[in-house]
Amino acid sequence: MSDYAASLDRAFEQMPEYLTTDVRFSIPEPIVIIEGKTTVLKNFLEIADAVNRDPAHILKYLLKELGTAGKLDGSRVIVQGKFTNETIRSQIAAYANEFVICSECGRPDTELVRSDRVLMLKCTACGAHRSIRKRRVRAAVAKDAIEEGGTYDVKITGVGRKGDGFTRVDKYTIYVPKTIKGEIVTIKVNTVSGTLAFAEIVERKSTE
Ligand SMILES: [Zn+2]
Repeated sequence: MSDYAASLDRAFEQMPEYLTTDVRFSIPEPIVIIEGKTTVLKNFLEIADAVNRDPAHILKYLLKELGTAGKLDGSRVIVQGKFTNETIRSQIAAYANEFVICSECGRPDTELVRSDRVLMLKCTACGAHRSIRKRRVRAAVAKDAIEEGGTYDVKITGVGRKGDGFTRVDKYTIYVPKTIKGEIVTIKVNTVSGTLAFAEIVERKSTE
């Protein structure tokens, strides 16, 4: 690759990425990092700013959807458990669809108001208003905490009857043959069946 092409590549990498490309409404792409047993959403407040909603409201929604606990920490959010970028991203997009974007005109120029104890989304652009839909349960959400073909860094927390190490991520128990308790490994998930998953080692990191 030429120097020019390389620097062009770098320039693109440095450009902020956005979940939405509409010029009227850009939500920054979530920056998600798994740290130990927690997941850190580094640019949470920036996202809250972009959707123009109370950070506490967004956080409450996120935690409920992810089925976990968490807290605001400066401009970041730290949640218990390991969640992929894609999971967080889809939750933020779902939040925006439900609590921010007008379903009539598609604009984000809206406000939440309470009328007869019902939460309504009022659009200041076109005047439309709708009630906030009843939440579906979160079953569909947590399922992509891990997915087939995905690679994850995990700590092996136990050993099953057949001698294979296992770990738990979200609701899943992931079996990883040839591992021992306490070992930190990079795994590739080969099969997910219900709440059971089977993975192989990609790399051994360390042992506690
Ligand atoms: Zn509207």
